[in-house]
Amino acid sequence: MQAAMGADVHGTPADATGISIDSRTLAPGDAFFAIAGENSDGHAYVAKALDAGASVAVVAREKADAFPEGAPLLVVDDVLDGLAALGRAARARSEAGIVAVTGSVGKTTTKEALHIALGADGQTHASAASYNNHWGVPLSLARLPREARYGVFEIGMNHPGEITPLVRMVRPQVAVVTTVEPVHIAQFSSIEEIADAKAEIFDGVEPGGAAVLNLDNPRFPRLKAAAEARGIARIVSFGESAGADVRLKEAALHSYCSVAVADVMGMPVTFKVGMPGRHIVQNMLAVLATAKLLGADMALAALALSRLKPPPGRGVPLQLQVRGGQATLLDESYNANPASMRAALDVLSRTPVGPRGRRIAVLGDMLELGVDGEAHHAGLAEAIRVAKIDQVYCCGPLMHALWQALPSERRGGYAIHATHLEPMVAAAIRAGDTLMVKGSNGSRMGPLVKSLAERF
Ligand code: ATP
Ligand code: MG
Repeated sequence: MQAAMGADVHGTPADATGISIDSRTLAPGDAFFAIAGENSDGHAYVAKALDAGASVAVVAREKADAFPEGAPLLVVDDVLDGLAALGRAARARSEAGIVAVTGSVGKTTTKEALHIALGADGQTHASAASYNNHWGVPLSLARLPREARYGVFEIGMNHPGEITPLVRMVRPQVAVVTTVEPVHIAQFSSIEEIADAKAEIFDGVEPGGAAVLNLDNPRFPRLKAAAEARGIARIVSFGESAGADVRLKEAALHSYCSVAVADVMGMPVTFKVGMPGRHIVQNMLAVLATAKLLGADMALAALALSRLKPPPGRGVPLQLQVRGGQATLLDESYNANPASMRAALDVLSRTPVGPRGRRIAVLGDMLELGVDGEAHHAGLAEAIRVAKIDQVYCCGPLMHALWQALPSERRGGYAIHATHLEPMVAAAIRAGDTLMVKGSNGSRMGPLVKSLAERF
């Protein structure tokens, strides 16, 4: 570890058995990297990390004097650079089939599904949670076990230029772009610019590698051209459109899962996926394409997808005990943008309700949409009509645009703050209702779900 980072050793560190950047979740034996973040500096937690059993702390030279004589330290010029060097070393010694996943939505879903599908064939390492940024990617890469057969890495971005250095570290054989949608559009002048920023994922693809691209997305030709311009000859398309290399042939969309048949480069594959929604089935086409490209056992991969479950805040169903029976709450509070909002409304439209039960959407602001923010909110009215949602509760300044666009019979209630909306929703819930709660993280829909769950 010290050699990979060119670090100076202080004290007598034990061999590290893992890597951590958070003293609260550190496992004994982990090396603790003191990363400086936006809100806190890891150097303030070195003592805590060592108390918790860290084998060594990796710290910056300019801050190293602050620690007691004899403390086990690896001293580097820059801790993040040290982590990246360790990531590169882990990659260099690995013989795994490596996948990088980016896209406006669906990265984590696709990454988790690849974890399960490739894991059915051989030892698979995948990024934790949504660890997809300038520290998440090197951390995930540094954790790649030497003996892993497959490695799956999520790569995200908020600005142009962020993906290139990350994917050059990961050096995937397969680069997946799930889809290109108006997300973080505030930082971009057009959707084409977003597509170009996603196309940076091709910068790090290994010679002879492949790009897996969504043929149903209008930005497909642009991404394909960008991949080819970087010398990637193998483009595998997925989708429902005619001519896709991995094509959806049939899908039965149920409330909590789907059953589908795909043609995977000439091979018929039947699969079940343990999360609802057409959008999830679409992501699975990218998973099957990748599994095929890496030579994994397709029958085992397809079988494994039935085990996919929604991560916290991404559609987990909760049962509420209300007067006279039960109501169901689909917790989508982790995040929201126009694409994932429409997908969640579609899932709500397919979720059953009890006798006299209603479909209720509780929607918080979708943030970071820039000058078109209000139009994106008002634009959901049509999706709500098509999905036949009975009642809509809107929360936040931007959601006021949707509130105004809704016909009066669908209007449930409006509030600026989630704390004011919660009692209105609570008073309205009846036995048999199904609610779906979704908004950007900053819109505080998570706490709203929590207080509803505590109330009932
Ligand atoms: P983040 O940038 O927050 O890490 P992500 O790209 O990892 O997001 P997921 O966590 O997989 O995305 O999904 C985010 C939301 O988008 C969820 O609500 C999910 O249901 C929805 N979603 C996933 N895939 C698609 C898709 N292909 N089209 C539309 N919505 C999708
Ligand atoms: Mg994610």
